Amino acid sequence: MTKKQRRRGVAVLVLLLLAGWTLFRLMPFYLPSEAVPFNGVFWYNPYEGLTRGEGKWLRTNFHAHSNAWGKMTNGSKNTVSDIMAKYDSLGYDIIGISDYQHITATPCAVFIPVYEHGFNIMKTHQGCLGARKVYGCDVIIPQTRSQKQHIINILKERSELVVLNHPGWMGGYSVRNMQQLTGYDLIEVLNDFWKSEDLWDVALSSGKPVMMIAGDDAHNVFKPTDIARDLTMIYVRSGQLKPQHIYDALKNGTAYGLEVTRRAARSMVPEKRRGLDSLPVLQSCIVRGDSLCVLLTGEALEYTFIGQDGIILSTVSENTAEPDKDLPIIYKLQPQDTYVRVRILLRDSSLLYLNPVMRTAHPGMKPPMPEARKRQLFTIFAQ
Ligand SMILES: [Zn+2]
Repeated sequence: MTKKQRRRGVAVLVLLLLAGWTLFRLMPFYLPSEAVPFNGVFWYNPYEGLTRGEGKWLRTNFHAHSNAWGKMTNGSKNTVSDIMAKYDSLGYDIIGISDYQHITATPCAVFIPVYEHGFNIMKTHQGCLGARKVYGCDVIIPQTRSQKQHIINILKERSELVVLNHPGWMGGYSVRNMQQLTGYDLIEVLNDFWKSEDLWDVALSSGKPVMMIAGDDAHNVFKPTDIARDLTMIYVRSGQLKPQHIYDALKNGTAYGLEVTRRAARSMVPEKRRGLDSLPVLQSCIVRGDSLCVLLTGEALEYTFIGQDGIILSTVSENTAEPDKDLPIIYKLQPQDTYVRVRILLRDSSLLYLNPVMRTAHPGMKPPMPEARKRQLFTIFAQ
């Protein structure tokens, strides 16, 4: 055996040991969470509280990378103050810096501790919002569903909210995963690199009550196309600006995603800011009897109502909408509808993604997320 072959043998052995150790650490096997569509005679409406009292929409981003890891990631030029300054001049209210495996403090009026978990080859990443402690392990090879479930469970113990980041990117999460995984809170539907709207519908159609989040995943804030492309707008009542209010709003769905137009994505900061400031916001979204009524503070070109299995239920374009702009756009909820969400095309061709109204057995209560259940036979290996 030559020296080169010996070295290669040792490297393979080390890799196998590492993979084996990782697999052992993540040994629990989980039953797939059943895909059962939402049901019940009531509707859970995440925007119920909008009509009660004064409140405001916050402009937020929880996905940006600083130079925490030096030149190891492509966030190498971004300092924390660069990121804060850029987003501040774009009128953002909350900025979270989501470095990999590291909670970075931000000098923000509301500090939300966040980080991005995951260093595997398939980009199976998770966003941890309200993170208390970083979880340092991951499975670097393509992960099984049970491994993904196990990681979600551990992250959930250490964070307020767990997000499946850019799930569609590189097959980080498959369609089947979205049907069967449980225990997380949010899906990053909009990300500068990848849109995962279809996978969101898979999760919702399988009875997983997950709300959406949008993030820039910015690695270089000096590049116009890296910032203010995918925003999360969060509604808070006046005086409710503590981190817990933000977590509650995201979890309850009192937020929506905004995808800015291609042209606005390429523009410079002042123009971007003007564009964002001029966009209408959600004024109300009400379920009254069998009607879902949506009203913006300004005009829109088209409202698309989407339901079970991502099917388009109805499209209302400006021509067919009520000529009176103060009247809401209405969709008649059908007995077979399990959830209905609305995507709104604005005049400048930006898109607004509302969280869904969903059927529920208990008035005012979001349907529960099913519990992750371990397969008994393998539980012995769990700890
Ligand atoms: Zn990522």
